[in-house]
Amino acid sequence: MMIENLSLVDKDSPILTTKSSLIKQCSSLELTELSGAMLELMRKLGGVGLACPQIGLNIRMFVMSSPVHSGSVFHKDRICINPVLESWNLQHEERIESCLSLPDTCVNIARPEKIMVSYYDNKWNYHTEDLEGINARIFQHELDHLDGILITRYNDNIFSRTG
Ligand SMILES: [Zn+2]
Repeated sequence: MMIENLSLVDKDSPILTTKSSLIKQCSSLELTELSGAMLELMRKLGGVGLACPQIGLNIRMFVMSSPVHSGSVFHKDRICINPVLESWNLQHEERIESCLSLPDTCVNIARPEKIMVSYYDNKWNYHTEDLEGINARIFQHELDHLDGILITRYNDNIFSRTG
């Protein structure tokens, strides 16, 4: 795969519904290059998260970008390698999700609103974080991708974006 030519796999690709493998500690340079290219593609497509299976790689990494309010709003990028949902509260909230891999599909999904997560970044530093709201939502959506789960799996609440 050419890192500079990343693109989304077809929505019917079996890669999207395959469980991805753990990443062994390897060249952080490659991971930095790949995650940088993924963040670029994600922004180009107007998304807030992108997982490796979406670009044809069944490995456990995703990138996410979320708004941070501190004085003025800016975006915090996260590169999450071998991410784990460590704990979650029982309070669920419903939100409508869409997915770059499934254009024109929106699904109303109930998920825990507060979670505790862990992951490695591209320099192989270990992080644990408490996430809530939109950040918890994006993390869980992207983590689903690594387990081969698309939003259409929650198909009780599926509807078309166009009406
Ligand atoms: Zn998605």
